[in-house]
Amino acid sequence: MNPDPESLFQYLDQTRQLYGNHLLLEDIEQDDIETRHTDLDLFNQSICNCQKCPLSQTRQNFVFGVGNPKADIVFIGEAPGKQEDFQGVPFVGRAGKLLDKILAAIELTRNDVYICNVLKCRPPNNRDPLPSEVEKCEPYLIKQLHLISPKLIVALGRIAACTMLQTKESLKNLRNQIFTYAQIDLLVTYHPAALLRNPNFKKPAWEDFQLIRDKYLRKL
Ligand code: URA
Repeated sequence: MNPDPESLFQYLDQTRQLYGNHLLLEDIEQDDIETRHTDLDLFNQSICNCQKCPLSQTRQNFVFGVGNPKADIVFIGEAPGKQEDFQGVPFVGRAGKLLDKILAAIELTRNDVYICNVLKCRPPNNRDPLPSEVEKCEPYLIKQLHLISPKLIVALGRIAACTMLQTKESLKNLRNQIFTYAQIDLLVTYHPAALLRNPNFKKPAWEDFQLIRDKYLRKL
C-alpha cells in the first residue's frame, strides 16, 4: 500500500529530525544501487538471447559481465574464453584467477569493480574478435558502461584496447596514457593471460595497477 503524500512527508521530516540528512542520503544511495542493478539486469535480459552474429550459434552462454553495478572502475577484456563460455561469467579461468590476485594486491575484490568483455560470446578456439562481431556487440558494451557510469575503464590487453580505441598501436605505446571511451577515462594494461605467458610483463603490469591505485582509486 502506498502512503499518502502527507504521511510520507511527515515520516521523512520526523526521520530527518531524528537522524539528520545522512540517513536519508544513504537510503537514496541504496536506491540508486538497486536501480542500477535492476537496469543492468533488465538490459542483460533484453540482449542475452542475441542472434546478431554467428557466435550466437556456437556459444554455450552469453557472458554479460559481473561485479558492482555502481563500480568506479570497469575492467574490460576482449571476449569470453572456454571456461567463461561454460560458466557464463567473465574471467573465471586461469587469467581470471590472476586478475583476482592483482585486484587483491590493490585491496579490491570482484565485488568492488565491474568486469566484462568487448564481445559477449566466445569466438571459436579463442580467435581474435572479427570487425563484424565488434560492430554488432560494441553497442551493448557502450550501453552497459553508461548504465554503470564508472570513473575509469581499464582495457585488459592489446586486443581489447585496440578494438575500443580503433588503433593498431602496440600495447607498450598505449600504456601510461589516459584515453577517452564512451566519455569515460580509459587506461590500458596487460591482459592477465599475457602475464601468465611472459613473466617479464609482471613488473610493468604491477606499475600500471599501482598507478590505478595511487592516482585513481584514492581520488575516486
Ligand atoms: N580473456 C578475456 O579477454 N576475457 C575473459 O573473460 C577471459 C579471458
